[in-house]
Amino acid sequence: MTASAAATPPATLVGEARFLRSFPAKDIVAERATNAELWDTAGRRWLDLGGASHGVALLGHNHPEVVAAIQQQAGRLIHVAQSVQSPVRADFLDRLHAALPAQLERTFIANSGTEGIECALKLAAAATGRTRIVAMQRAFHGRTLGALAGTHRPEFRAPIAQMLPKTDFVPMDDIEALQTAVTKDTAAVLIEPVQGEGGVRPAAREFLRAARDLATDRGAILIHDEVQSGLGRTGTFLAAQAAGVVPDAVVLAKGLAGGLPIGTCSATAELAAKLPPAAHGSTYGGNPLACAAGSAVLDILARDRLAERAARLGSQVAARLRELDAPCVRDVQVSGLMVGLDLRIRPQPVLQAMASAGVLALAGGMTGVRLLPPLTIPEPQLQEGLDAVANALPRVVAA
Ligand code: PLP
Repeated sequence: MTASAAATPPATLVGEARFLRSFPAKDIVAERATNAELWDTAGRRWLDLGGASHGVALLGHNHPEVVAAIQQQAGRLIHVAQSVQSPVRADFLDRLHAALPAQLERTFIANSGTEGIECALKLAAAATGRTRIVAMQRAFHGRTLGALAGTHRPEFRAPIAQMLPKTDFVPMDDIEALQTAVTKDTAAVLIEPVQGEGGVRPAAREFLRAARDLATDRGAILIHDEVQSGLGRTGTFLAAQAAGVVPDAVVLAKGLAGGLPIGTCSATAELAAKLPPAAHGSTYGGNPLACAAGSAVLDILARDRLAERAARLGSQVAARLRELDAPCVRDVQVSGLMVGLDLRIRPQPVLQAMASAGVLALAGGMTGVRLLPPLTIPEPQLQEGLDAVANALPRVVAA
């Protein structure tokens, strides 16, 4: 069947109409972007507080030094298989491990966050021989089978829920429920130290510490999913560093390669050694192009002290949002530049009003508005975004 212009909604490109998506496309045809600003083919300028990048624009869109690193590497070597050594991959791993806790000594490089979680779950299964996962209510870990098993929302699990590995979900911060759920059958305890997709919620430090102790006592593997909260976004390289907790494995992704696909699973040497020969691999994972971009990202993060900047700007954002006089706001959660407003209403009208003001944000769960701005966002643009939030919140909540 040929798609005709008449059969195509006005804002949908004919080719885009063929894209098999399970969520509606935005009325934006992207053309180019710099840092937190994106322009569409209609000449409109958008401020991207995460709505266009889903947090991938950690250093903003098209950071010039990342672009230069990609261009340089593309002219030399784009791809070699994981079986072939690469100095570019080695450099990337050196930089990553310089930023990670020393206990995490080995890293598998994949192409996405969900693949990083698959690797961590595979390590947990190999190390324990057990079958079950313990994960948090409202968790999001990705959309492949293992990662989806740890993802809580039924719409995300459909229609394949019956084929997923078995998971026991516990409310975050409920130490007693965790104690009951983690048993001799638990291979992995899977936690986002700051939940994102389900609504921005930092785990309590005591909960992260209790999970660490419990996993150790009961022989389960503690996996931290820092796909959204990692890389300095919450004010430290890993969000869990603030609690002084080191997991057995941590997964990173999103902006790690400046927008090129990447995901990493870093584990203790002891855990990594449990992986049987031939049990894991990836054609593209760790390719020189993504690794060159990743090295540039890690250099910029460290050199420009962007985690510290995220912490500083986050305090300003928290102060501004907490003084909003809006009855529809139930709670404000700010962890560096991972920002959430929990509302008494659905977030869509608020997101729509923000978009009318040219500002793109995200939903978080059923009642949350979420902001994941670049760590490099100019302060006036961050203020512009917060003005848009303030103006978009209805003054009255319908009874
Ligand atoms: N884990 C978390 C916490 C995420 O936020 C996401 C994506 O948003 C994922 C895993 C999955 O990552 P990806 O979409 O790169 O597969």
